[in-house]
Amino acid sequence: MSKYMQSRFASLEAYVPGEQPQDKKYIKLNTNESPYPPSPGVLAAVNAGEAAKLRLYPDPECKVLTKKLAALLDVEPENVFITNGSDDSLNFAFMAFAGPETPAVFADITYGFYKVFAQLHGIPARVIPLKPDFTLDPADYYNAGGMVVIANPNAPTGLPRTRNELEEVIRRNPDHVVVVDEAYVDFGGESCIPLTKKYDNLLVVQTFSKSRCLAGGRLGFAVGHKDLIADLTKLKYSTNPYCINRLTLVAGEAAVDENEYYMDHCREIMDTRKATTDALRGLGFEVLPSAANFIFARPPKMSGEALYLALKDRGVLVRYFSAPRTCEYVRITIGTPAEMAVLVQAVREICG
Ligand code: PMP
Repeated sequence: MSKYMQSRFASLEAYVPGEQPQDKKYIKLNTNESPYPPSPGVLAAVNAGEAAKLRLYPDPECKVLTKKLAALLDVEPENVFITNGSDDSLNFAFMAFAGPETPAVFADITYGFYKVFAQLHGIPARVIPLKPDFTLDPADYYNAGGMVVIANPNAPTGLPRTRNELEEVIRRNPDHVVVVDEAYVDFGGESCIPLTKKYDNLLVVQTFSKSRCLAGGRLGFAVGHKDLIADLTKLKYSTNPYCINRLTLVAGEAAVDENEYYMDHCREIMDTRKATTDALRGLGFEVLPSAANFIFARPPKMSGEALYLALKDRGVLVRYFSAPRTCEYVRITIGTPAEMAVLVQAVREICG
């Protein structure tokens, strides 16, 4: 830390993204990207003509994409907020709806960025342990006394809660915003977006990075009551109004037009998830029943770290989390059937 860095950041522990090693070609099952390319319309939309327009600023209101997304999600454009990845939406939500007097309330095992956003903005975190079986008890979040953040399905477990269960959390926190992070909802979860018409304290966050094959484009969005969206927009315009670049905007617009392409691939990933889960269970693994594009799995006779290292040695990258409750497990992104066959074969060799 330089002598100029402000002391309030001395204890800030930055988020650590999944590794991207360059030493050889890996089968990458560690950052929950899609194994499939963006749809044909997206590839066509990101063309030389659009690149030539890069001398011009993008539309800060993202009007075309906002309208298309609103139509797809059956809400009004005033209910949609578009950002540079969903991390950006989450960051603005922490900034807007939590603070020194308003804690952020989230699970002990969930997306690791929540505690970073809390630290960054000087927000006290009220961390609620998941149950021993890794499920989240919605009743733990009734009258939570702060902004509630729930990833649904949760990460890295993949376990979902129903819309009805989360509605009760929203209903029982009338004085605080409830953020439902639906990064993985398209792989078998139940979206809370319909509830945004009924509750003015619900913000649903989604991303184009997973089910829409656009992690490298950096595109995310939030859906909620128009007043929440206006609050978030005020902060976006006070930070970087042009945070979504032109190429990503046209890519996102084309992706919404081709929604069926993406939903088909989500179904394929769910089929591959089932086959991989069955294969690993057959090898003695405990695999949590996932509703996401990854599985959380515990090998029979070794630690999560030992399996992670042995797989990396064989050219397959998975994610390992060293915290006490998660260190026995690895998180494996669902790739193509061919990639998962390589994974299962490697596991078979490693586990004897
Ligand atoms: N929420 C969850 C639960 C995630 O796992 C991720 C991916 N790391 C994100 C949000 C952020 O994804 P992105 O910024 O690429 O939209």
